[in-house]
Amino acid sequence: MELWEKNIRRVVPYVPGEQPKGDRLIKLNTNENPYPPAPGVEKALGEMDADLFRKYPDPASSLLVDVLAERYGVGKDQVFVGVGSDDVLGMAFLTFFNSDKPILFPDVSYSFYPVWADLFHIPYETPAVGEEFQILKEDYYRENGGIVFPNPNAPTGLELGLEAVEDILRHNQDVVVIVDEAYVDFGGRSALSLLPRYENLLVVQTFSKSRAMAGMRIGYGIGSPKLIRAIQDVRYSYNSYTMNIPSQILGAEAVKDEVYFRETLDKIIKTREETKRWMGELGFTFPDSKANFLFATHERVPAEAIFKALKEEQIYVRYFNTPRLKDHLRITIGTDEEMKALRRFLEGFLRRY
Ligand code: PMP
Repeated sequence: MELWEKNIRRVVPYVPGEQPKGDRLIKLNTNENPYPPAPGVEKALGEMDADLFRKYPDPASSLLVDVLAERYGVGKDQVFVGVGSDDVLGMAFLTFFNSDKPILFPDVSYSFYPVWADLFHIPYETPAVGEEFQILKEDYYRENGGIVFPNPNAPTGLELGLEAVEDILRHNQDVVVIVDEAYVDFGGRSALSLLPRYENLLVVQTFSKSRAMAGMRIGYGIGSPKLIRAIQDVRYSYNSYTMNIPSQILGAEAVKDEVYFRETLDKIIKTREETKRWMGELGFTFPDSKANFLFATHERVPAEAIFKALKEEQIYVRYFNTPRLKDHLRITIGTDEEMKALRRFLEGFLRRY
């Protein structure tokens, strides 16, 4: 190793799901929305003037912040936006987890959490989820430097009831608690209703799943004005112009169309419930997902074998080769046609295996 290499910050990066290229493939591996964004997004995109890009964007992203504040019935000083919820979560780790005590998050949860913790030198402990993959709220009643968990959880899709979320908050008023609600719109109950009672709560959501805009990279956090001021200060100390102009404009358009939002969600939820039914008949079991994916294991055939066979068929799902997850596949809910193709292949494959 050269001398200059000794001072380099070494990290093991998060590995996102594959983004394979091709027209004929079925992509059920990164929990994207199979439907297009709201029609107003396409319209605004068509009308956008490239001259807008000559100037820097509004560093406060007011256009988007104002629409979000109105949509969620909170103050403008309670909204923080970022480049995907990954950006919001990363900034939140940097801002709020600044203690010598370990932060806590479930051992089965979003695999980016330990990466940010390592990157920012934040100590952490990962209480094990239960036999049925449920988050055990009592594990979060001990002393800690902060708490973060997805709800519904990823990659299980399981929801922790709002009462349990509040129990965790009640026991942790001396630290910041982050609830990562990337999937909440698909049937979960949001912790936003708890905000008036807990100044230390940050709820993080994203446009990547329910609003079908993963490629635009828009995420947001909602919390008390004090919490938002703190994370803004850190963000402005790092990068003033996080959100580009198209993201601000098109993100605002997406939020305005509540009808389209609801319709798309209803379609995905309906497809999810149908998928649960036929996958059950094929011998799969899974936690009762409230997200846009199923975390499925088969009674007889190893998950890895199914994963590989699907990939050969150009059907991409997500497989995590870790001790607790290796028997499962995480399958994003696509369109009815995509799920039909998945079903047809699985029926044949399982019969032959
Ligand atoms: N939280 C969870 C639980 C996720 O699964 C994801 C998607 N990988 C994210 C946050 C980040 O999504 P995005 O940055 O696209 O908003």
